[in-house]
Amino acid sequence: MNSVVIGSGFGGIAAALRLKAKKHDVTLIEKHKDLGGRARVFKKNGFIFDGGPTVITAPYLIYELFELFNKRPEDYIKIQPLDIWYRFVFEDGESFDYSGNDESMKNQIEKINKNDIKGYENLLKFTQKIFDKGFSELSDVPFDKPLFMIKQIPALIGLKSYKSVYSLVSSYIKNEKLRRILSMHPLLVGGNPFTTTSIYGLILYLEKKWGVHYSMGGTGNIIKGLEKLMIEENIKILKGSEVTNINFQKGKIKSVTLKNQEEILSNNVICNADPPAVYEELLNNKRKNFIFNWKKKRMEYSMGLFVYYFGTKKIYENVAHHTIKFGDKYKEHLDDIFENKKLNEDISFYLHRPSATDKSMAPENHDCFYVLVPVPNNQSKINWLKEGEKLKELVIKKMEKNLLPNLKNNIVEDFYLTPDYFEKELNTKYGSGFSIQPKFTQSAYFRFHNKSEVYDGLYFVGAGTHPGAGIPGVLSSAKVLDKIL
Ligand SMILES: Cc1cc2nc3c(=O)[nH]c(=O)nc-3n(C[C@H](O)[C@H](O)[C@H](O)COP(=O)(O)OP(=O)(O)OC[C@H]3O[C@@H](n4cnc5c(N)ncnc54)[C@H](O)[C@@H]3O)c2cc1C
Repeated sequence: MNSVVIGSGFGGIAAALRLKAKKHDVTLIEKHKDLGGRARVFKKNGFIFDGGPTVITAPYLIYELFELFNKRPEDYIKIQPLDIWYRFVFEDGESFDYSGNDESMKNQIEKINKNDIKGYENLLKFTQKIFDKGFSELSDVPFDKPLFMIKQIPALIGLKSYKSVYSLVSSYIKNEKLRRILSMHPLLVGGNPFTTTSIYGLILYLEKKWGVHYSMGGTGNIIKGLEKLMIEENIKILKGSEVTNINFQKGKIKSVTLKNQEEILSNNVICNADPPAVYEELLNNKRKNFIFNWKKKRMEYSMGLFVYYFGTKKIYENVAHHTIKFGDKYKEHLDDIFENKKLNEDISFYLHRPSATDKSMAPENHDCFYVLVPVPNNQSKINWLKEGEKLKELVIKKMEKNLLPNLKNNIVEDFYLTPDYFEKELNTKYGSGFSIQPKFTQSAYFRFHNKSEVYDGLYFVGAGTHPGAGIPGVLSSAKVLDKIL
């Protein structure tokens, strides 16, 4: 059996390895000259900038890939737990160090609103129930049969999946600051906490169960370790090769064509590339499937991302590894991103400082950062060539005020990426950061299926398919393949 995997994000690499372990003859094809997709690495003058994922959760899903071949993960990568998971900072200067330490969590909640301690404990218990169902039971099983979905409905209703994460958290927690902190998790997978199904509240418990980790040398080191493993296991890797067509005969996949016109025959094609873009751009002999076309047409896409990478000649000793800064108009900012599709000056953002944990990420006596600002995806038609520079200035000003004094004068290296990068370089529809949104009506059976509902021999792994975005999500999508291929 031979299988072609298109795309080398975490999902694509995991799929290639899992199929290889099942004795398939596997070819991995990546458009870029380096692997990783959203987890690519940019190295500049001694700074190592992880392009995307920085928070490592459920590391066992990464270890499993090495263990499939009886290899020891520690011979390839080093993943270590962090003490403080996120530092939340509010406009009035108040901050909260979020972690797995129960005592510290309760002390800090008490300082903000002591009446919310009981609610926090009950919320944790409830998210454990969501986790047991949504992650442990359903994250790596195929959702390609309507009957299977229907069978899950009573349990999902019992878990209040009709509520948003924010509304679920608000039913336990009264204080607005704590509500924001405890409901922010959908943002990590591209959703709006005010509209994302409460099922994604499971991330709160997932962090609690396995902790929040960092990969020494950066997340890119995990990609490097997995690439080494793929080479050792004789997976053929074609870099700098873009697939321009997936070819089929009588509805059955037969080959892919590369940009240089080379055709590669294959029994199966596994797409790690964004599903809507695959269906629209790579399968241009469209088969008629009324329900599928209707589903695809009404899909809503996740937010876009503006990511500003910068290195400083000053070390900002007191800045945590992960900081989330809430603007005052948090909800309005999210409404502008997801509904109104316009920019807002009162931004909330996430600041990453890997050199807080790992000095190898910056030259000596320097500090390494990226700041991520959620923005509308390219359905907004924002001209990023014009707005990019303005947003960079705005976010520098905001960081100077609350977190990094005199920042502008200390920057020695910088560049930024906008939704244009995600659209043009990573082939993602509308340049969304995380493919389609994690809404109830776009989850499980309603998401793009892991086994295509239109073409025989076509499969999907990665953010746009079940179970969804984020490293644990896309690694689980590759586990679904184990059950269907
Ligand atoms: C800035 C940012 C921060 C994030 N932070 C976190 C985090 O801290 N923790 C976390 O768990 N998740 C995080 N995420 C989400 C996580 O990174 C993604 O959900 C996940 O990495 C996506 O992996 P994927 O398997 O879907 O593939 P992708 O990374 O999307 O890769 C798809 C690959 O397919 C290739 N491709 C596309 N079309 C073709 C073609 N025609 N031919 C050949 N190749 C093609 C692309 O070049 C790309 O390499 C973050 C994402 C971003 C963008």
